[in-house]
Amino acid sequence: MTGELILGIDLGTTNSAVGAVESGFPILLADADGRRITPSAVWYGDAGQVEVGRKALRRRPADPGRVITSVKRLIGRRYGDEESFCVPMKPAPDGGITVLDRSPEEVSSEILKELKRIAESRLEREASKAVITVPAYFNDAQRAATKRAGELAGLEVVRILSEPTAAALAYGLDKLEERSRVAVYDLGGGTFDLSVLEMQDGVFQVLATRGDTRLGGDDLDLALARHGAERGGIDFDSLDDSAKVRLLEEAERVKCALSDRGEETFRAPFFDGVHSLEVPLTAADLGKLAKPWIARTLTCCRQALADAGTETSALDAVILVGGSTRIPAVRQAVAEFFGREPDLSQHPDEAIALGATIQAGVLGGTLRKMVLLDVTPLSLGVETFGGLMNVLIPRNTTIPCKAGEMFTNAAAGQASMRLRVLQGEREMARDNWELGLFDVPFEPAPKGQARVGVQFRIDENGILEVLARDTTTGRDTVVEIRSAAIDVDDEAVERMVGESVEHAFDDMAERIFTEARLKAEELLPAVDQALATAGELVPADERAEIEAAAAEVRKALADGQPNPLKAAVQRLDKATEALAAALVERAMEQALERRM
Ligand code: AMP
Repeated sequence: MTGELILGIDLGTTNSAVGAVESGFPILLADADGRRITPSAVWYGDAGQVEVGRKALRRRPADPGRVITSVKRLIGRRYGDEESFCVPMKPAPDGGITVLDRSPEEVSSEILKELKRIAESRLEREASKAVITVPAYFNDAQRAATKRAGELAGLEVVRILSEPTAAALAYGLDKLEERSRVAVYDLGGGTFDLSVLEMQDGVFQVLATRGDTRLGGDDLDLALARHGAERGGIDFDSLDDSAKVRLLEEAERVKCALSDRGEETFRAPFFDGVHSLEVPLTAADLGKLAKPWIARTLTCCRQALADAGTETSALDAVILVGGSTRIPAVRQAVAEFFGREPDLSQHPDEAIALGATIQAGVLGGTLRKMVLLDVTPLSLGVETFGGLMNVLIPRNTTIPCKAGEMFTNAAAGQASMRLRVLQGEREMARDNWELGLFDVPFEPAPKGQARVGVQFRIDENGILEVLARDTTTGRDTVVEIRSAAIDVDDEAVERMVGESVEHAFDDMAERIFTEARLKAEELLPAVDQALATAGELVPADERAEIEAAAAEVRKALADGQPNPLKAAVQRLDKATEALAAALVERAMEQALERRM
């Protein structure tokens, strides 16, 4: 079959994999040892040597300080976002992070180079393009940084694809009935997410996604290592790094073994040079340790279903992705929660890479065409008067998409408008993350008369372009927001969403107060002036009501209470209706008189 070679790559937190379409079939490519999964680990030697994958992990017990794992946690993020990491983090000049003097993109690019090498040696041809997957909740900066990592590895990234969408493709869900809904439960080594997708008109859409970037098989390894140490009378926390690594590796081995059989012995001879451990463990022991861990994933499931406005009974399939879904207790909990047996037809740790490969095949023309859609993980908007967040693209909007709104000037004679591009779920601009800040010049005009149209466009890679147009001159300002160097502050998405729920009442109260205050500040001087120049136009009782209402607004402003202020402003608005009408009438009469 003719067509262009494009690799499909799952660049995972714990493990990565690469595939390509060969003779019309999507397949994953194995390394020289026949393994299709490469650990996302990089070792940097003192003299600049680099080793990737299992070779890097093997260096860990002897050289834990020079082996980087889970670099995906740092990609596209800012210094201070992440509290702890396997090696010390330092701030980069652009506000980003460096580890062992390298940026997360550089470290990721070493993993990508290794995958590229594996593919090229299997396929015996050069590969220069790739589709790379990212979690559905990755923000702009994280997607752009992933793309840069690809470029550093000598790969043109033709598409950044959402992981749940890739998984759905691998499971062949595009062959389901129209309007079918599926849940993708992805529990890997270090992260968890649950996404709800819908197929409609032959197209996939991510309806909602929720996750926890600090929840995965690693947590269970730690719990099991602690448990094993405790049973052997050892205090895990008092051990040095290299002894901890030994116990964690053994814990992972025992955990995986217990997925296949009922019992396994935790064996760590001379793990700290002196002590040895030999602890028999059962699948029930592991099940007990895993229970609270699994419960945390189910909380995210509930939230995602609520976000998607759906129920478990409305789903047509549930698919499992990520190595940790091999654990029987996980499978059982998922089956119980969703009230159906999950589809186990694919390898859970290969599904995402396989889906990326299918998408690469479609883009390269070697597989049939299919359209894919993702959603925005967080709302995008701009700051408006009073420091409020004005959402242009709500959370969970299908991309690619665009949306716009017209804005005006707050002060007369202003010649430019400062546009703050925000991402987040909070009502006040200051509580959201600033993605960019720039000035849009426009023709000076009286207050409220300039017209600046702002449009947000998100392309199929999830990269945001902001266009601001002065409609008087037609002059455009276009800014592509793609780099962490532009002032991006990207905390974990679920934290933002959690905070927005936690502060929902306070936030709403502040928005109501701010909106009412802006209105009051406009209304009060206008009312004062109207009463002074035209108060005689309305009967005395109406005038008294206007004055009473104005006094109430002033008191409510001073009290700082949102709902009383809103009510007082409404009362004042209503009380001045007749006066406003009388003013308009008088102005018209005067205009007529002047013409006569
Ligand atoms: P992933 O990030 O999808 O590659 O998943 C990696 C995680 O899956 C690691 O925490 C592994 O320990 C875990 N894992 C892989 N195979 C098994 C298994 N058979 N039983 C339990 N956990 C597993």
